[in-house]
Amino acid sequence: MESTRTYVSPLGSMRMLGGAPALDLANTLHWRDGNEVDFIASYQDLLAFCIPAQLLSEAEARSLKRLARNHGGLAGDVHVEVLTLRASLKSWLMRSARNLNTSPAAKSASLRDMKASIAQASGSAGLGEILNLASASATEAIHLPLRRSAAAAAMLLLFPPGNDIRRCEANHCDGFFINESRSKPRRWCSMDGCGNRAKAARHRLVHRK
Ligand SMILES: [Zn+2]
Repeated sequence: MESTRTYVSPLGSMRMLGGAPALDLANTLHWRDGNEVDFIASYQDLLAFCIPAQLLSEAEARSLKRLARNHGGLAGDVHVEVLTLRASLKSWLMRSARNLNTSPAAKSASLRDMKASIAQASGSAGLGEILNLASASATEAIHLPLRRSAAAAAMLLLFPPGNDIRRCEANHCDGFFINESRSKPRRWCSMDGCGNRAKAARHRLVHRK
């Protein structure tokens, strides 16, 4: 079996379990032991995440890392813009995941926000702006992770994966993933993490009686 792509961050490892790059991006802000942890604390973290998330090739990440050293301010701005996109992505997911109940009004309001965020993150020239990193200006190039994240979020809207995006059922997780099982819908972001914890908790509950 192919091993799961993993982002090794300064805060620990994160596996790409969402089933789509945009879901893995949303999952970089998540709950661990009752605290909200942000796995993308800087532009450099963003580059490292984008490789296993398949938003950047290793060669692209390497050259952007070099560029960002000389354009720290701009890289910092792009980092903030990615976090803004991620925030509206998350709030759209919170209202549109299949196993969550939301009012149609809240759903369409969050969809509007999400579309606006994607348009913002796509830049004035649109997503085709950076087609060749080698010939792009430094300013354009540094925006590449943002443009690709916007494209990934747009893909999620344009091609809803069987309309079956779900939120992990574990308390305090907020992980999102695409369910691919028709017969027995997937319930947790990871079987060995949240799935196991839920089973152990149920076991304790049963044996307390
Ligand atoms: Zn989970």
